[in-house]
Amino acid sequence: MTALPLIAEPRDRRRTPTPRHLADLDMSARRDAVVALGEPAFRANQLSKHYFDRLVDPSAPDVAEQLTDIPAAARSRLAAELLPVLATPVRRMTADAGATHKTLWRLTDGALVESVAMGYPDRVTVCVSSQAGCGMACPFCATGQGGLTRNLSTGEIVEQVVAAARLAASGGLAGSPQRLSRVVFMGMGEPLANYNRVITAVRRITEPSPTGLGLSQRHVTVSTVGLVPAIRRLTDEEMNVTLAVSLHAPDDELRDELVPVNNRWKVAEVLDAAWDYASRTGRRVSIEYAMIRDVNDQPWRADLLGRLLSDRLAHVNLIPLNPTPGSRWDASPKPVEQEFVRRLRSAGVPTTVRDTRGREIDGACGQLAAAEVGE
Ligand code: SAH
Repeated sequence: MTALPLIAEPRDRRRTPTPRHLADLDMSARRDAVVALGEPAFRANQLSKHYFDRLVDPSAPDVAEQLTDIPAAARSRLAAELLPVLATPVRRMTADAGATHKTLWRLTDGALVESVAMGYPDRVTVCVSSQAGCGMACPFCATGQGGLTRNLSTGEIVEQVVAAARLAASGGLAGSPQRLSRVVFMGMGEPLANYNRVITAVRRITEPSPTGLGLSQRHVTVSTVGLVPAIRRLTDEEMNVTLAVSLHAPDDELRDELVPVNNRWKVAEVLDAAWDYASRTGRRVSIEYAMIRDVNDQPWRADLLGRLLSDRLAHVNLIPLNPTPGSRWDASPKPVEQEFVRRLRSAGVPTTVRDTRGREIDGACGQLAAAEVGE
């Protein structure tokens, strides 16, 4: 057997560690950090207010000058130590008449991730990434095709949220409020596979100012392929975030293929964990279901799904499939989708069809694939 010629050097996996950011730390650790830098503890509060209230941008050339309540001599050092630049925009794209903004970010080690801010008349939502790439390998999802690069730090997740808050505050989302209100972990990555950093990020996003951004936990949605032990852990946190489960098929045979982690945790186990979450939090679980033509959109699957979900604290969110490059799959035709909705509703299951924001800028569900842009 002849060895294949080595056509590419393996990518250097060593990477510069992500710098520490105040969003990684709780308030008492922030105080310790400023004291270690020879500053009084209350500077932690001042810096936190600049970041979470005034939405100071660490990448602004004049960031130090903006810290006006801190003595000039200490500003640059505190900014460098606790407000380092974690993410630099590489490309921004807008769609939906300026109401949708996708940003491609380069992180400090060169990893690329995307986030999408969406303005509506009554609210502003940001869809954030929790990992660079994703290891879950769902065949219909663009991110899933490239594998996992790495977990994001809490600071890197929070910065995507704060950046969207800045964009909204600057009036950058046409026809929408100037305040960010919702966060969905539906960008790149599997949030529950980066559990600790994601949970800490949720805390930062929802803790009152100046520790955090002060959003309501009910307005944060964590979406998962169904990592059962992590769903159970989340249940024990007693947070009031909305749980979304990416089901995509009501039967194990098909779900094994569409969501490969189903080979480990079956539909029944995932739903059991979801119902425990619902009963502990009192919050309706969102069941995500991408409608894929002739794959999972048959009337009998709607009926089976209806039987699994009726009388449960659940809501179905149908997502018209966003075909990804090279995929053999397509979205279901509208009449098929409507019949699916009709059957679910007649089983008593509240059902909505998701809008397709950002489609033309590859910013819609499952289209985020920053790796394709190259370096
Ligand atoms: N890993 C998390 C977050 C992923 S993205 C999860 O799986 O839940 C959020 C949603 O978009 C998931 O429900 C995901 O299955 C769905 N999705 C992925 N690719 C898609 C595509 N091409 N079209 C429509 N929805 C897609």
